[in-house]
Amino acid sequence: MRRKAGIIQIIKEIINGIKKQTVDLLFPRRCPLCDDVLPVFEISQEGACICPECKKKLKIVKEPVCKKCGKPLERERAEYCLDCVKKRHVFVQGKAVFEYCGDLQQSLYRFKYANRREYADFYAAEAAKRYEKWIKQHNIQVIVPIPLYKKKQKKRGYNQAEVFAKALGEKVGIPVCTDLLTREKNTIPQKELNETERKNNLKNAFKITKNIVQLSYILLVDDIYTTGSTIDAAATVLREAGCKYIYFICVSIGRGF
Ligand SMILES: [Zn+2]
Ligand SMILES: [Zn+2]
Repeated sequence: MRRKAGIIQIIKEIINGIKKQTVDLLFPRRCPLCDDVLPVFEISQEGACICPECKKKLKIVKEPVCKKCGKPLERERAEYCLDCVKKRHVFVQGKAVFEYCGDLQQSLYRFKYANRREYADFYAAEAAKRYEKWIKQHNIQVIVPIPLYKKKQKKRGYNQAEVFAKALGEKVGIPVCTDLLTREKNTIPQKELNETERKNNLKNAFKITKNIVQLSYILLVDDIYTTGSTIDAAATVLREAGCKYIYFICVSIGRGF
């Protein structure tokens, strides 16, 4: 009897393997860095795939980093980046996976605008590898992606932060809530503005759509962290609604001083 069950299990595994390879053949996976199609048999089981050459080029965020926003720092002994020394953030702490430089910039551009949603698997696998422990230490109850303005999302077809959040949630086993926070304003891209304009641009940009009294620990998720104004604006409405501890993870971040 036990032997029979064992054989059935083996057959099931073989069928699943074939199914996965068929999907990979029909929808070839691309390297998140150079965008070349990856050979099917080189793809690892978690789908966290990248060409070996590209992997060497990636710049992973490493210590020393700012204790607040997670930016890699030039000065060995500094605790915070100059930005975090000057500014009081609403979030408690944040982490980022890659440095925003080199080919990763184009990778994120394609992820956001060219429908390369599959890259999320790789980004999330790297994020989970580095920060799963940190996420669990901070008792994160739910992962919330930074929302896009509804019309913008309709036009683009998806929200890249949401795609990343779902991939990460699956890897670390934490629920993702995509309808808790909405974007009420079609804001101008932050990179085109100075710090004061950024703040005004984001005023009343986000709204809470649910009762969140039972949530004390939320992880916000976005693709790129620059000055933190977006994360702070989202964290502000979450705080006002009663959530005390807001953390974030971004796919990438610039260097700090
Ligand atoms: Zn590559
Ligand atoms: Zn900082």
